[in-house]
Amino acid sequence: MLETLDNVWIQFLEFIKNRISISEYQNWFEHINVISSTKDEITLEVPNIFVREYILDNYKKDMLIFLPTKNDGELSVNFIVKEEIKEKRKIKYPVLPPIMNSNDINFNSQYTFENYIEGPSNQFVKSAAFSVAQKPGNSFNPLFIHGGVGLGKTHLLHGIGNYIKNHNKKYSVKCITTEAFINDLIMNLRNKSVDKMKKFYRNLDVFLVDDIQFLQNKENFEEEFCNTFESLINQNKQIVIVSDKPPAQLKLSQRLIARMEWGLVAHIEVPDLETRVAILKHKASFKGLTLSDDVCFFIAERIFSNIRQLEGAINRLAAYYKITNVSITKEICQSLLNEISSYVSTNKISVENILKSVALVFEIKVSDLKGESRLKNIALARQVAMYLAKEHISDSLQKIAQSFGGKTHSTLLHGWKKISSILETDENLSRQIQMIKRNLSS
Ligand code: ADP
Ligand code: MG
Repeated sequence: MLETLDNVWIQFLEFIKNRISISEYQNWFEHINVISSTKDEITLEVPNIFVREYILDNYKKDMLIFLPTKNDGELSVNFIVKEEIKEKRKIKYPVLPPIMNSNDINFNSQYTFENYIEGPSNQFVKSAAFSVAQKPGNSFNPLFIHGGVGLGKTHLLHGIGNYIKNHNKKYSVKCITTEAFINDLIMNLRNKSVDKMKKFYRNLDVFLVDDIQFLQNKENFEEEFCNTFESLINQNKQIVIVSDKPPAQLKLSQRLIARMEWGLVAHIEVPDLETRVAILKHKASFKGLTLSDDVCFFIAERIFSNIRQLEGAINRLAAYYKITNVSITKEICQSLLNEISSYVSTNKISVENILKSVALVFEIKVSDLKGESRLKNIALARQVAMYLAKEHISDSLQKIAQSFGGKTHSTLLHGWKKISSILETDENLSRQIQMIKRNLSS
């Protein structure tokens, strides 16, 4: 009995195990228990809220493929927090073990140069990354890659790691997110083993660092990072850094910014239509799905600023195909992806329409937009919705603000100002907003 109950969860775990590192798996998935499971709903027990938030933030797409969903396509998963059952205690963050072992890195095996589709938007970055992979320390050093969300930065970083591991086993390579680096440092400070950590990092041949923007406003950690950086560069060891902004726009010390600008700074841009179609086809074939040109263009014309969203669309179509075995036509595609293409069919723009549209593009719930969560992605989406509401709705600010779960008009105004100023420089956000506007007026 239990076996069938757990089945979907086990399948999901098997799938996810191959895609993430052992330590990630241990931290996030090993301590989750299935309490009950039917074909319509599954209840999971998680050690704390943090685990729930993290897996929903990072693995929801994958969960949607395996776990039950509701009629509206949302996950039908209940979470029970262990601590809620016992007593309300302070949230405990999972303790991450120190990760100073260059062999435990599990580069995502799918993230290779072969699987990276080239186009005018990324050709330059890709060849820079490839040249670094071929001659670590003797090409561009450091290589600094920046660009918007979901444009393949992490893919390229792992691509470099995979290539070096396959072609040059003698190199010790470490790929780490900046958050994990900070965690590592905290753990080693706690264990009084910082010297060991320093030695580990400073003996690497290739240091691949993802999402350096998380080092902003963390002065204590910045210093240690900067020292590691200098020590490696001085020994001619290869460093690759990935960021969502160019070095000069990061709130980091001048010293570190200057170091990061030493080598080559390369920008990944938003792919053009043809490249998006090529990526779609590539990803679809991976899922055993054949899509007509018609369907590919249909999707690629509607999702343009984030390749992860293109993948989300493919996952949805693949799941549909798996269940029905009916080939995907443009019509099927339209109805399956209606949230992306034209979710809001009325011409009258209302706060509710804006909330729905923003929630869909940012992949969160309308209730999150009305709620109080300060999670970065949710807070940004909420401000985008406030911005659009102020721009498009002629009601008083007070009245509009009320529709956001009873916020004040100064909160609304603050949101509007914040987004207006981000839009001056952030091309990616501006495209996302265009997409939402298109939905609203279609
Ligand atoms: P980022 O780190 O920039 O947010 P990721 O590297 O995580 O983005 O990429 C998001 C998804 O899009 C990944 O699954 C990745 O494989 C895919 N992807 C991005 N760019 C390309 C590309 N040029 N060719 C194939 N897949 C891509
Ligand atoms: Mg990334």
